[in-house]
Amino acid sequence: MEPSSTNPGRGRVVLLPLPYQGHINPMLRLAAALDSRGLAVTILHPETRAPDRRKLPADYRLVTIPDNIPPELAASGDVASFVFALNKNCAAPFRDYLAGALREEEKGEDGRIAFVVADVDWFAPLSVARELGVAALGLMTSSAARFLVYLAYPSLSHKGYLPVQESNFNTAVEELPPFFVRDLHRVMDMTRHLAYANLLAHIVAGVRQSSGLIINTSGDIEGMEIERIHSEIALPVFAVGPLHMMTSSSSVESSLLTEDRSCLDWLDTQRPNSVLYVSFGSLVGIDTDEFLELAWGLADSQRPFVWVVRPRLVHGCKSSTLPDELQEKIGNRGRIVSWAPQQEVLRHPSVAAFLTHCGWNSTTESISEGVPMICRPLSGDQMGTARYVCDVWKVGVRVEVENQLKREQVQTAITRLMDGKEGEEVRERMRDLRHVVVKCTSEGGTSDVALQRLVDSNV
Ligand code: UDP
Repeated sequence: MEPSSTNPGRGRVVLLPLPYQGHINPMLRLAAALDSRGLAVTILHPETRAPDRRKLPADYRLVTIPDNIPPELAASGDVASFVFALNKNCAAPFRDYLAGALREEEKGEDGRIAFVVADVDWFAPLSVARELGVAALGLMTSSAARFLVYLAYPSLSHKGYLPVQESNFNTAVEELPPFFVRDLHRVMDMTRHLAYANLLAHIVAGVRQSSGLIINTSGDIEGMEIERIHSEIALPVFAVGPLHMMTSSSSVESSLLTEDRSCLDWLDTQRPNSVLYVSFGSLVGIDTDEFLELAWGLADSQRPFVWVVRPRLVHGCKSSTLPDELQEKIGNRGRIVSWAPQQEVLRHPSVAAFLTHCGWNSTTESISEGVPMICRPLSGDQMGTARYVCDVWKVGVRVEVENQLKREQVQTAITRLMDGKEGEEVRERMRDLRHVVVKCTSEGGTSDVALQRLVDSNV
């Protein structure tokens, strides 16, 4: 008989996703990948932004951890304060949970906890698990290159690269190629810089005390970066991504917002390889000027597009309604939705390119579908990812912006990618990169082997 999730013979993995969309998705994909390799899954989640039980496989256990986080803080967009509060408030309830689970295990009433995986941002459980003698690994949901920035943050600050200043934007960071100063964290005022540096110090300390690091990347696309991390933290590193390719995408549904699937029907009515998909992910905001310039750029490009304008995308603006003149110009050529089934959109044969903020999930989802990118990074890891997309892998082009985004810059980038020779070359490189990630996530590929190594390891 196959061991089931209620069968004590089956090892159990306990996963703690940070409650943000870009973090929940890779953690649930890891859950599905581990489940498919025989481990039973328990998801521990804070009360804030709990995953929808109905969307997850019935045999996953979901456990709510009281977080005591005021709703105003959760809604504020102050990620650093939210993350610190989560770590502080959930440490004791997590300890109670784990101690209880170990007692059940001892009595033979439940399967052995093979290991705990916590988002690297949710670092407190890593040390709690260690104190209780349970192996615990951090999951880096972004790239290996970004984790190198985390590791280097104190020395980059010491050397004067950080906080970044516009005057040294174009200085190459020799210690961290291929980055330029403009690609590091765009926090320019000292107070916020120090708060962020403090958060990163906690994240790195948490990983250093853990049993290993799992990264949502592949050795075939970030081999040198992974080696460097390994040599710096001297812990096992498991590059098991892109995680959405390590499991069948239908096995986990993790959207916190409701997807508007009507855009798929609309895509069916469009010519193959003609549509631009536009999305800035789940978190970043833009101002009204940028929103309107972007809209005009899309209108002027004459290309059909699907554009995700989610709630709170535009600062201080509740509605995504465009001025009449713009609406008229776009007509039926553009489709605005508040949340899209992104992977299905990217997979659709009508989609030709992705105008993206370069969130790491969006980037890897685009690569896996072979869709070239137009990059408009705005914060966090996005500038660094755009550097890899445009200058290392060369599978996208940037919207070249001086200060404020202008419609002509949007239109120029669209033309560069979607028409002409440069676009053709970019598309060809994207086809090659797609093959690389398909290969590494297939049986015997580097990510497949790394995942099995994780499952088999006694970390
Ligand atoms: N996403 C989605 N529908 C949308 C926009 C985004 O399902 O309309 C998903 C996308 O597929 C990705 C995640 O939300 O998995 C966004 O993560 P990413 O790292 O790209 O950006 P973040 O939201 O963290 O900035």
